[in-house]
Amino acid sequence: MSELRDLYQELILDHNKNPRNFREMAEATHQADGHNPLCGDRIRIYLKVVDDRIADVTFKGSGCAISQSSASLMTTFLKGKTVFEARELFQHFHDLVTGHPVSPEKLAELGKLAVFEGVQEFPTRVKCASLAWHTLVSALEGDSDLTTTE
Ligand code: ZN
Repeated sequence: MSELRDLYQELILDHNKNPRNFREMAEATHQADGHNPLCGDRIRIYLKVVDDRIADVTFKGSGCAISQSSASLMTTFLKGKTVFEARELFQHFHDLVTGHPVSPEKLAELGKLAVFEGVQEFPTRVKCASLAWHTLVSALEGDSDLTTTE
């Protein structure tokens, strides 16, 4: 298990050091800002939605390794998904990090996102891991107010 943990840690560190899709998007159809005041994490999510499908998703931000790597991993999962599928993924991810039961099928869908399962033991870290996802939902809903975890 500790080997698996090391592997997960590596994945988080890698995404923190080399964040994927880390850029502004001029042609974004949706965007939102998120803030986790407890930790100081900031995330801006950019989405390009075409025919109810996420054609592109990028982010900018600063903060702890968990918040930034979570946002990075999230963007790699969302490209090509429908808005409905993205919301479903958010629900499964939220269940996972808050310690709610997640079926094996849903866990399989989450794939590498399951790396964040360990944060459920640390309530303040749950907010770091889920900030990007809450901000994503705000962007999809066209909510331009700052999303905060408080
Ligand atoms: Zn954080």
